[in-house]
Amino acid sequence: MYSQLITFCISFIILLGISGCTTVPGTGRSALILVPESMLIEQSNSLFREMRRKNRVSTNTKFNAMVRRVGRNIAQVVRDDMPATSWDFIVFEDSSQANAFAMPGGKVGIFTGIFDLVDQDADLATVISHEIAHVVARHGNQRVSQQLLLTAGGIALGVALDDEDRRTRNAVLSAYGAGTTLGITLPYSRGHELEADKLGLIYMARAGYDPRRSLVFWEKMMVKQRAGVLPEFLSTHPAHRSRLRQLNATMDWAVAEYDAVRSLN
Ligand SMILES: [Zn+2]
Repeated sequence: MYSQLITFCISFIILLGISGCTTVPGTGRSALILVPESMLIEQSNSLFREMRRKNRVSTNTKFNAMVRRVGRNIAQVVRDDMPATSWDFIVFEDSSQANAFAMPGGKVGIFTGIFDLVDQDADLATVISHEIAHVVARHGNQRVSQQLLLTAGGIALGVALDDEDRRTRNAVLSAYGAGTTLGITLPYSRGHELEADKLGLIYMARAGYDPRRSLVFWEKMMVKQRAGVLPEFLSTHPAHRSRLRQLNATMDWAVAEYDAVRSLN
């Protein structure tokens, strides 16, 4: 079974004609990437278009201005890691959802419910930088790649060449579908969540937002979750204790980055 998996894995990588590994910017961790990013971006863009069709886009000028302002500043910080990405931030009208997501390719959605937890730009920066960190670290691709290894056994060395593209595409699409939550975003592993927290903390600091505000934000989130107001929100996110422990462990570095940015201004 194990050797079959290896054979499949290798043949899949050969079929796609790509290398199966990448390094996560900022952490140096090596990660499994099997799916061409262009395919994932195409799929994400079409999901996002569908979301825009089906959901009401917020006309709240304050929320929209805040998201544009914070989004632009965080995007600026990750520009070197994602030079080809043009980020697109949309506020969706749904006060019941204190949630946000970012997709491969740079589409970012924020639900108006998140503003219950936001008192200032740095609070919103906590969420947006966390979501953008998922994209920079290519967590979506890793999740889909894992799904492919688990489910797409149909693709093997014997696949007819002229059939290759369609089969590969279908496997990728179904893996992507299997990995979606509410058709919106991919559930990430706890390891990915902690990595996004860590990277996000540094990004917000470099964008000029006090990283210590992240503790305030997550604390508020925890209270809401405990009250059962947010049943589905961030359900795959790490236990608050491990999240706070890691944020505290990264805080000195983040605060140093924040102070360095502020001394320039
Ligand atoms: Zn996350």
